[in-house]
This record gives sequence, structure tokens and C-alpha cells, in this order.
Amino acid sequence: MKCPICNKGMMKRKFDIMEQDGVDFEAYKCSECGEELMDMKQLKVLATEYRKLRSAKEVTFAKWGNSIAVRIPKDLADEYNIKSGKQGLLTKGKKGIEIVLA
Ligand SMILES: [Zn+2]
Repeated sequence: MKCPICNKGMMKRKFDIMEQDGVDFEAYKCSECGEELMDMKQLKVLATEYRKLRSAKEVTFAKWGNSIAVRIPKDLADEYNIKSGKQGLLTKGKKGIEIVLA
């Protein structure tokens, strides 16, 4: 794909990270003028990441015997119908520990 800005360079895929939020993204960068562009697919992926980030809740870890416990805020527990005694699975995700409800 030729650069639509300078019409000289070629647009090459690049992977980068939004410094302020730590969000990974993919875009195209011109080999000549350095202009960066995103197509609709790349934009949608980035928007999804930001939506996830916005709905993220801060949690605090606490010692519970020899283990570490995570307190899940009430609104989130209600949303996922998590009650005391309910079981789930901890999995190693791309960006950290994920909880999968049984
Ligand atoms: Zn260019």
C-alpha cells in the first residue's frame, strides 16, 4: 500500500504500545514521511482494548493463610453472580491471571 499522504513511501505494518496506557496496537507507518495510519480493523481492535481498560476495576490483594486473596467489588460480583462458595478457575492469561467462572 502506497502512502496516501506523501505518495512516495510504502505503508508498512508496525506494532507499538501506547505509552500512557500500556495498550498494544498495530498500525501502518510510511517508510518515507513517517505518517502513521490505522485501518478499520486495527481501529476496532484498539477501541475494544480501551473499552476493556475503562471497565477494569482496581483490586487489592490480602494475605489469607498462606495464600493471597483478591477482593472482588460488589457490583462486579453481582454482575457475574459470584457468591461465597462459588467455584472458578485461575488461568494464566496474556496480561496476567484470569478468573474463569465454573
Ligand atoms: Zn508518506
